[in-house]
Amino acid sequence: MTDECPRIEALSMYLDAQLDAAACARLDAHLATCVRCRALLDDLFGLRTDLRALADERLGFDLSQVIRGRIAALPARAPERRTPRRWPWLPAGVGAAASLTLGLTMGLSMTAPVAAVAPVAATLEVFAPIAPGGLCVGMPACWRTDAWTGARSR
Ligand SMILES: [Zn+2]
Repeated sequence: MTDECPRIEALSMYLDAQLDAAACARLDAHLATCVRCRALLDDLFGLRTDLRALADERLGFDLSQVIRGRIAALPARAPERRTPRRWPWLPAGVGAAASLTLGLTMGLSMTAPVAAVAPVAATLEVFAPIAPGGLCVGMPACWRTDAWTGARSR
């Protein structure tokens, strides 16, 4: 077969005499020169002959009526009754509670002063008028101790 060879559909249409006269003439000219297309056309002709030779099998009765009769003979089933769910809102409630808890936990962990503020407060003591470890010249009541960091400030 070459690129100019017809597709098998065209050969099948040729075999079934469904091509117009011009296409049929072009295909006749091609088949006269192309051995492969001629062999393929012979195979298609043999296949058609074999299919036509198959016996025409018939049931002898209407199968659909038999099936309908069997379906009608089945006992009627009661419609399936669905029991109402006891806690229909439970999955949504559990999800909402989990989301709220997670959101609060994440939000509080981001704003908690424990870990984030302590190094900053300790660093700022360097700039205090009294150096860390220095003697206090004022009253202890003037100083406030941070409950989280232990840092003292005025
Ligand atoms: Zn060909």
